[in-house]
This record gives sequence, structure tokens and C-alpha cells, in this order.
Amino acid sequence: MSGYETLLFYKYVPLADAEVFAAQHLAFCRQLGIRGRVLIADEGINGTVSGTTEQMQAYCNHLHADPRFADMAFKTDPCDGHTFEKLHVRYRREIVHFGVDGLRLEEQRGVYLEPQQFLQMKDEPDTVVVDFRNRVEWEVGRFRHAVTLPIDRFRQVPDVVHMLEPYKKHRILAYCTGGIRCEKATAYLRSLGFEQVFQLHGGIIEYGKQTGGKDFDGKCYVFDQRITVDVNQVNPTLISYCALCGKPSARFINCANEICNKHFICCELCAQHMKGCCSESCRNHPGRRHYDGTGFYHKKAR
Ligand SMILES: [Zn+2]
Ligand SMILES: [Zn+2]
Repeated sequence: MSGYETLLFYKYVPLADAEVFAAQHLAFCRQLGIRGRVLIADEGINGTVSGTTEQMQAYCNHLHADPRFADMAFKTDPCDGHTFEKLHVRYRREIVHFGVDGLRLEEQRGVYLEPQQFLQMKDEPDTVVVDFRNRVEWEVGRFRHAVTLPIDRFRQVPDVVHMLEPYKKHRILAYCTGGIRCEKATAYLRSLGFEQVFQLHGGIIEYGKQTGGKDFDGKCYVFDQRITVDVNQVNPTLISYCALCGKPSARFINCANEICNKHFICCELCAQHMKGCCSESCRNHPGRRHYDGTGFYHKKAR
């Protein structure tokens, strides 16, 4: 039996014919039979896809054969099967929605730190590690002592960036899951006058692979069916708790009440007891779906 892989990749590169390219790329992915989500914009490409090892190899080869993506790095994770239900290849205005016009990423982005450099620098004096991910992500896992932001979407960073003002003279070490958000976040910080801005190249995922994930507490949230992945093999901990009983847990489910559908952390015992619901009222709701032990529900076809 053939193994499966999940690939994570992005590249900021001007694409003159992005809309046309998106249509061609969709056709290619369909033909190859892979699943996942690929966003294509005038500023580049961003995707996570899953398939068999052979399919993933063919996918990498296809993109590497395009001069614009010849040097694109793919982060590969072996997995038990597809990590996506469907295939989406879409044209968007930005590959990561940030909404700040006029950033010049090539010139303004923070200096890349390879995982080993990041590991060495993160605890130095006058150095602040900043997490640019959303609340749901950092609640379940983050670098020890990292500064986090109270945001639900990346585009809310400008609303809360004043919270980083006290660190303006510090050395900022930015990180996110795979590095894509930090390219924009660090360029934005520099446009605001922050001077010493660095970013973790390849993000948490690459850090885990190259350093063993030391001092990353909890688990890394990912935007596919796995929901979280382990990063730290050196000094792992759990930092999140079941929303119902308060016991340590990093198990996300969606509330079985379809109207609610709340994405929350719930231990296995509580989930069984509550039939996969977040509250008594959801458990008694007529719209409650059957809880099959995963807390993951297929979207209804529209
Ligand atoms: Zn519980
Ligand atoms: Zn609910």
C-alpha cells in the first residue's frame, strides 16, 4: 500500500497571469487526483495538498518545472490518508489576506532566521518572540514566553499592533505556522519603524523538523483535518484544557449542534458525555448531529 503525504508550500512571486494560471492549475490538480487548498494571487501561491507519495512527487515536479517556482520549498509530512476532503484551487487578491497596501516584501520583510539560529537567539536579552497567529492557534500551542496577539484573523494585526509598541527597541523574532504570514507581518513592522525584525524561516513546522521543537509548548494548529500536529520531541507539554471539565487536552471538536458548530477543545470523556456538544442547550437542540467520536462534520453540499 502506498503511503500518503501532506505538502505545505508558499512563494511570494509576481504572477502576471494569476487568474489564468489558477484555472490551469485546477485542471492539473484534478487530473492528478490530489486534494487540498491552493490559493493563487498576483503576489504568489500558497497551498496545502494531500495525496499518495507518487502524486505528491508528481505535484512537486510539476511546480518546480515552472521557472517562477523552481526554488520553492515544500514541507512534507507523512500521514495516514488524505488530510483534505476536497480540492479547492482559487484565485484571490492576496495569498494571505492582510489588507495593508504598499508593503514591499522583498525589501521590507524581516531577516530570515533558520530554525537553529532562532533556537539560539530566542532567549537572548532584549529579544522578544512574537506569535503572529490567531488566538485559536496560540491557545493550543506556542513558543514558551512568546508574545501573542488577541486576533481571530491575520488581517486584524494592524488593529492590535500598538501592543507591540513597548518592544520597538527590542529585537523582534516573529513566527507563524509555515512562515507565510511573517513575510507580511515583519514587512509591516518595519514599515512602522521597528528596526530589528527577524522571522523564523519555514515557521513552526520546519523548526520542529530541524531542532526537535525545543521550547514549543503544546501542539501546532494546522488548517486541515488533523487540526493539530506534534512539534516538540525534546520537552513537550500540554498548555490547553478541556472547555468543559478543565483537564489538560488539545483535542478540538466542532459542536454537534449544527447551528452552533463551535470549534472548541473538549476531552474524549466530556465529548462522549455531551454527545459532542459544547453545552446542555446544544445537546438538547433538534439540530444536533450524530457524534461519531471525531467531532468533525462534513459540510453539506450546497
Ligand atoms: Zn473534559
Ligand atoms: Zn454548541
